[in-house]
Amino acid sequence: MPKVHNFGAGPAKLPEEVYEIMKNELTNFDGSSISLMEMSHRSKPYMKFNLEVQALVRRLLNVPDNYKILFLAGGGTAQFAAIPLNLMSRTGTADYVVTGDWSLKAAKEAKKYGKVNLVLPPTDRYVEIPDQSKWNLDPNASYVHICANETIHGVEFDFIPDTKGVPLVADMSSNIMSRKFDVSKFGVIYGGAQKNIGTAGVALAIVREDLLNQALPICPSLFDWTANAKAESILNTPPMFAIYVMGRVLEWVERNGGVAGMEERATKKANLIYGIIDASNGFYSAPVAKSARSKMNVPFRIGSPPNEDLEKEFLKGAEALNLIQLKGHRNVGGIRASIYNAVSYEEAEILAKYMKDFQNKYS
Ligand code: PMP
Repeated sequence: MPKVHNFGAGPAKLPEEVYEIMKNELTNFDGSSISLMEMSHRSKPYMKFNLEVQALVRRLLNVPDNYKILFLAGGGTAQFAAIPLNLMSRTGTADYVVTGDWSLKAAKEAKKYGKVNLVLPPTDRYVEIPDQSKWNLDPNASYVHICANETIHGVEFDFIPDTKGVPLVADMSSNIMSRKFDVSKFGVIYGGAQKNIGTAGVALAIVREDLLNQALPICPSLFDWTANAKAESILNTPPMFAIYVMGRVLEWVERNGGVAGMEERATKKANLIYGIIDASNGFYSAPVAKSARSKMNVPFRIGSPPNEDLEKEFLKGAEALNLIQLKGHRNVGGIRASIYNAVSYEEAEILAKYMKDFQNKYS
C-alpha cells in the first residue's frame, strides 16, 4: 500500500501509532480474550475503561470538578438538538452566533424548540468573527451558542466571548484538543469525535453541573444530559467502539505533550501553510481574515478570480503524490487542507512543497 497523506476534514486521519495499538487488541480487550465489540457495556473492563476515558479528558483539558464529562451517541448533529432540549427551558430563547454553516445548522435545529436570536446580521460569506462590540446579545437568553471552529469555512475563534453571565455553549467538533483554553469560561463544550479525537458516532460533551436538571419535558431520555450523567454515559448501549477509539487517541495526545504539545504543532503547521499562501503574490488566496484563520482547516483558492480548472489540476497533481482529500467543501469550492492533530509537521511540509512547486509550474 502506498503511504498517503490524508488532509481530509472529517472523518479525518488518526495517529498511525493508535492503529497499531488497536490492531493488537482488536480481538482481546484488556486481557479478556474477546473484542470490545462483543463485550457487555456493563462488564467490568468496559465500565473501568469508560471512567478512565472520562479521567483522561478531565486531565487533558483541566476540567474543573463541577463539570460532567459525557459520551453521547449521534455525533455533533444530535447535540444541535440536545442543546435546546436541555437548556432552552429557562427563558425559551437562545442566542446563536452564526459564523459559518455549522453554527447555522445548530441555530436552525434550535428553532424547533424555542426562539432563536441571531447575534450577527445574516450573511452567506463567512470570513471573519465580527468584533464583540457588534454583537446583538440578548441578556434574557438561556444560553449563547458559538462554533469555535467552522470546519467548512476555516473560521476559528481566537478569543472566548464575554457573555455577561449567560452560559456559553461551544461546538468544538473540529478543534477540541488542539489548543489550551479555560473550561470554566464555558457552560457546555461539545463536539463530534471524528476529527481530532476519534471516529464517528459519538460526541464528547463537557457540561457544567448547574446546567443539568432543566431539560424540556419533551426531551428524549437519550438526549437528556442529566440522565446520561447519572448513568456515567451508560444509559443504553453506548457507541462503545467510538468511545474506545477516543480513549486510545487521547492517550496518544497525552504521550505527545498533551494539549500544549498539540497547540505548538498546530501553530507550526498552520504558519507553514498560510505562509506559503501569503508569500504567493496572489497565486493562492485565503479568504478568511487573519484574526479568524483556523489552525485546523485551511481553505484557499487558486488564481484571482479563482481558476477552477487550475484548482482541479492542483487536486489531480496532489492525488498523484498521494496527498488526498484536499477538495474544498461543495458549499465553498476551492481547496481545503485540514491539518488536525494526527497530521504531522512533516506531512504539512510535503504539502507546502507541493504548493510551491505547483505555483512555480503554473504562475
Ligand atoms: N459541528 C462541526 C463544527 C462539524 O464540523 C461537524 C461535522 N463536520 C458537525 C458539527 C456535525 O457532526 P456530526 O457529523 O458528527 O453530526
